[in-house]
Formats: sequence, structure tokens, C-alpha cells
Amino acid sequence: MATSSTKKRPQIVPPTPANLEAAGRLIRAGRLVAFPTETVYGLGADATHGRAVAAIFAAKDRPRFNPLIVHLADRAAAEEAVVFDERAERLAEHLWPGALTLVLPRAAGSAISPLTSAGLDTLAIRVPGHHVTQALIAAGARPIAAPSANRSGAVSPTTAAHVAESLRSRVDMIIDGGPCPIGIESTVVDLTRPEPALLRPGGVTQEDIEAVIGPLAAAAEEGGAPRSPGRLVRHYAPRLPLRLEAEEARPGEAYLAFGAHQAAAAATVLNLSPAGDLPEAAANLFAMLRRLDRPEFTAIAVAPIPEAGLGRAINDRLRHAAAATADRPLAGGGAMG
Ligand code: AMP
Ligand code: MG
Repeated sequence: MATSSTKKRPQIVPPTPANLEAAGRLIRAGRLVAFPTETVYGLGADATHGRAVAAIFAAKDRPRFNPLIVHLADRAAAEEAVVFDERAERLAEHLWPGALTLVLPRAAGSAISPLTSAGLDTLAIRVPGHHVTQALIAAGARPIAAPSANRSGAVSPTTAAHVAESLRSRVDMIIDGGPCPIGIESTVVDLTRPEPALLRPGGVTQEDIEAVIGPLAAAAEEGGAPRSPGRLVRHYAPRLPLRLEAEEARPGEAYLAFGAHQAAAAATVLNLSPAGDLPEAAANLFAMLRRLDRPEFTAIAVAPIPEAGLGRAINDRLRHAAAATADRPLAGGGAMG
């Protein structure tokens, strides 16, 4: 459909079957679709498509990669992405579909992009109850990664008009499903430790959850100070030390390159993006760090990444990972973390 306007505007459309089919095609093509859920409006992309997930962070101007919630059609789809335990089974049975997000270990061979979970071995998943969300997931035939559909730091949108104000032309389609019935984010429960913990209060009450699995611990503090939800997440860090802003590798080091680079020894060099494309680099970041994190190297040297656009988020994660690895005993001593 041609538009006579020169200024690109997001299409705000009602959730008709034809529009949902078009939205599904956009998702499969790696594009961004904003959509209603029972909690808040989400900014969605194919969770298995690294570049599409990178586009979410770029559209939000997020200065860091936070792990995103993956929205799935049903329990069967969830079991392909994560490993359920008995507590997860009971919560899913009683409180899904609904405003409850479960953090669980990633399933081996899960198709979800490492960028979706910011490189972590855990994944936050939810089966939403809103009929438009379910229709979009069905039309896209993909798990949908989605944070709230607003610029970083802004309040979460609960109408399509809020989304349009905040993201304007940065999204390919906005589905208008009316105001969100709950209007606050989902409750996030961490089931990756022996004690289940409440990471974020939200649309499902703590009482409802405790009625199913018993007492929830408050999220474990690591420094004692109060922490915001995003900071409750343990961050991914490789075992090897990282050396940042490295123009080249020293003997014994693996090298994570960016942009034009003459690969000296191909076995020890991976390039985040030979073309110098930041969304491509973001999509490759966690998977490549893992591939280079091998005991035959002394460290991973990382090329300078421009501090602009998604480069800020990439550098934020690299600095966190470098700080985390600097605290550990040096490699070679059999420190198995
Ligand atoms: P939002 O991006 O606003 O939808 O928020 C997502 C919430 O889920 C944040 O509070 C994250 O910290 C949390 N979250 C997502 N994935 C994980 C994970 N793998 N481990 C712990 N918390 C997570
Ligand atoms: Mg948000």
C-alpha cells in the first residue's frame, strides 16, 4: 500500500484478521510490531531472530541489553524454550494464560536468540491471556520477544496512542486493541534457584502465587542496596578475562573483531560485524563471546566498538563482563566458577 506522505508514520490498525496476518508476516520478516497485552503494550519481534531482537533495543534507545520476556502461545511452546520443574508446572496450570512471567533454565537447543536473554542461561517466559496477543503469536508462528513499547526510561504505554507518541516511526505497525485491561507489567518469578523469588511485583499478586507454590523469597540482594527490577538480573560474563578497546590480539588471546579486520589466525578471531553494522554486532555479541570462551585462550581481546546507537549497549555489556571477570582468580588456576 503506497503512501503519499513523505514522512513515515507507524500504521495504527485495528486487530482485524487481515491486519493480524500482515503483522504476522512482519514478525516473520524480522520487523517490529507493537501490540496490546493484558498488562501493557509490547514492542515485539521474532525472539529467534537476533537482528530483529537487536532492532527492539535500537528502537527503545536502551543504553543496555536487558533480558526480554518471551511471549508464547501455550505451555507446549514454552516447554520447547525452557526446562520446567514441578513449581513451574503448577504455576502454569493455575495462573496461565496471564500476567505471570517465569524465569527458568533455557532448554538445550532452544531456538531463542542469545540476545533475547542478554546472554544468560535463563529465560523469562509468559503465556499471555489477551486475545489479540494470542492472535498475533498465532499469525507470526514465532515466539515473540517484547519489552514495553516505549522509549527507555519512559512509563509503559497502555494505549496505542501512547505507543505512537513514544516510538513514532520506529515501529512497522501498531495494533490498536484498546486500553490494556491490567495496565501494569507482569509479575516476574525466578524459579532458577531452590527458593522461588519475586523479581518484580506485577499483575498477578504474590498471594495468588504463594497459594500455588508456597512462600516467595524477596529477590536476593547482592550489594545490600535496594535495586530496580532490571538490576536484579545476574549478568552474563565469560570465564576468560576480557581486554577491551584492543586494536589486536596478544599471543594467547582470542580476538573479537568489529568492522574491517585482517584475520591473522581465523581460528582465534570472530568478527561481530565485518561491515561495521551495530545491529548485526549486537545480534552476534553473546553467541560469539561464548564461542571464544575456551580454556586454550588466556583472555578475549575485544576491538573498540563505537559509543553510539546500539554500540552503547554493546559497550555497557562488555564493561560489565570485563568487571565481573576481573574480580575472579586469573585463568589457568582451574577456577571453574
Ligand atoms: P520489561 O523489559 O519491562 O518487560 O521487563 C522484563 C523483566 O523481566 C525485567 O524485570 C527483567 O529483569 C526480567 N527478566 C527478563 N529475563 C530475565 C532473566 N533471564 N532472569 C531474570 N530476570 C529476567
Ligand atoms: Mg518497560
